[in-house]
Amino acid sequence: MSALLDVENLRVRFRSLGMLRALATGVDDPFIDAVCDVSFQVREGETLGLVGESGSGKSTIARTIMGLTPAHDGSSIRFGGDELVGLPQRSFTAHRRHMTMMFQDPVGSLSPRLTVRSLVTEPFKIHGITGRDLDKEAKRLLEMVGLTEDFARRFPHQLSGGQARRVGVARALALDPKLIIADEPTAGLDVSVQGEVLNLLARLQDELGIAILIITHNLNVVRHITDRMAIMYLGRFVEQGPTEDIFHNPRHPYTEALLSANPEPDPDARKNRVEIKGEVPSLMNRPQGCEFHNRCNYAQDLCRRKAPGVSDAGDGHVYTCHFPLDGG
Ligand code: ATP
Ligand code: SF4
Ligand code: MG
Repeated sequence: MSALLDVENLRVRFRSLGMLRALATGVDDPFIDAVCDVSFQVREGETLGLVGESGSGKSTIARTIMGLTPAHDGSSIRFGGDELVGLPQRSFTAHRRHMTMMFQDPVGSLSPRLTVRSLVTEPFKIHGITGRDLDKEAKRLLEMVGLTEDFARRFPHQLSGGQARRVGVARALALDPKLIIADEPTAGLDVSVQGEVLNLLARLQDELGIAILIITHNLNVVRHITDRMAIMYLGRFVEQGPTEDIFHNPRHPYTEALLSANPEPDPDARKNRVEIKGEVPSLMNRPQGCEFHNRCNYAQDLCRRKAPGVSDAGDGHVYTCHFPLDGG
């Protein structure tokens, strides 16, 4: 499988304090790096999962790939071989036809005044595609996500959370995308509805060969649906690789702790819970050396002095830690 999306050294900066407040508080750098030196690929037809605590930068990566947030100088985002960083908006819109995003809030991300028919066919208008029978297109798209054509007349407030998600998927499918970015597609849904939405995404991927970048807090979702996964901490990737390999052999202590907090359905496979001590540091005040050192149970002097580089555990499994778990 070739790389459909190739992200290299992605950095995203936000101004986190107003200039006056920065002067008043004596902070000379009022910017935060919400995403730092992140590199990954999504291959055609594969599913990559992005996990990490709240505020670790997952949605920022998604929004930057979609061109909704600018990437910092030196970042590269190639889609289908074409560089997207620095593209003028008009050229970007042409690429956006082939990638689409399902936003974090299922109902809130659908315009309340538009009917489902308008919502699912709006991408044709946005991309200036004329001459289609929009009623037929709406019916086709709704069928693909298991909704009857009667839904076309409804408004978002008349949909359940699961139905709103399905409409979001239908809209995402309108332009035959090669990549869907799904930000927390199961958040706020009942467990049974979560399963339906995931099965829908998996089925569409199977049938249509679409690649999926899925962002979620839910590690069971990651295990169920992804081929590979990446773990974020303070805007950086600390580990990425084949999902099963990471679940069986996490190398980074943060990954170990995250996985151990996840309830395993199989009692024999349950691991001892590894507590993460302390609080997530502020992005305004990143720790020196390894940025996880103040919370890590394995930290040594070197960790406080020197940031670890990227190490390779084979088969595309990489991590950043001076003293990794043994992978046994
Ligand atoms: P969650 O799991 O809660 O959705 P996340 O991993 O998606 O979290 P992001 O929304 O990407 O996290 O935010 C990463 C960091 O960037 C946070 O500290 C957030 O406050 C900050 N941030 C995001 N957008 C902006 C913005 N427009 N301006 C300033 N800071 C921002
Ligand atoms: Fe822990 Fe050190 Fe590894 Fe950082 S480099 S995760 S502090 S062992
Ligand atoms: Mg988010």
